[in-house]
Amino acid sequence: MKFGFDIDDTLINLRGHAFSIYNKKLNQKIAEDVFEDLKTVEIHRPFGLSDQEGKEMWNSFLEEIYFTSCPPYPQAVETLQELWHQGHEIYYITARPGEHGQRTMEWMIEQGFPVEEEKFFCGMKDHEKVKIIEKLDLDYYFDDKPGVLETLDIDTLKIFVKDQSYNRHYKGQRLTDWGELKELVMENSRR
Ligand SMILES: [Mg+2]
Repeated sequence: MKFGFDIDDTLINLRGHAFSIYNKKLNQKIAEDVFEDLKTVEIHRPFGLSDQEGKEMWNSFLEEIYFTSCPPYPQAVETLQELWHQGHEIYYITARPGEHGQRTMEWMIEQGFPVEEEKFFCGMKDHEKVKIIEKLDLDYYFDDKPGVLETLDIDTLKIFVKDQSYNRHYKGQRLTDWGELKELVMENSRR
C-alpha cells in the first residue's frame, strides 16, 4: 500500500522544537503546558509577539528550527521503518519552501526515516498538496492541518489527522500516537 505523510508536526515535533528555541533566544521560560494548550499553529503569542514579529522570528531562525535537533514523535521512525520493511511505499509531502527540500530530505534520512528520493515532495503550498496526493494514488495520508485534510475529497483515500491542540475540532479519524498506526490500518482494511 501507499502511505503519504506530512512532515512538520505530523512526524516530527517542529513547533515544540521551535518553542524551545524561542524561549532560549528571547530569554524566557514559558512552560510546556502553555505550548500544549495553544489553539493556533503559530507559537509566537505567548512570547508577546505580534503576528508580524512572530513571522519575522520564525523566518530568522528557520535554519535552526529545521535543521538542528527537532525530535521525531515517539515511534514515528520505527513505525515507518516497519511499514517500509513490509514492502509498503512511503511518500513525504511537505509544504516546506522548495529551497529547503534537499536538506530536509537528508535530515530525514539522518533521523532514520525511510526515504526514497522519488517519493519525496517539497515546496508546494498547503492547498496544492491535494494535486500531488491525487496523482500518487495514495491509500493513506496523514497531516496535522485540518485545512489540508479538508481539501482531500478522494474516495479511495483514508485520511488521518495527527492529534494536535489546534486541530481537535476536526471530525475525521485521529492518530494520537504513532504506535497506534498498525492497529488503525488493520481496522480500516477490515471495513
Ligand atoms: Mg504539518
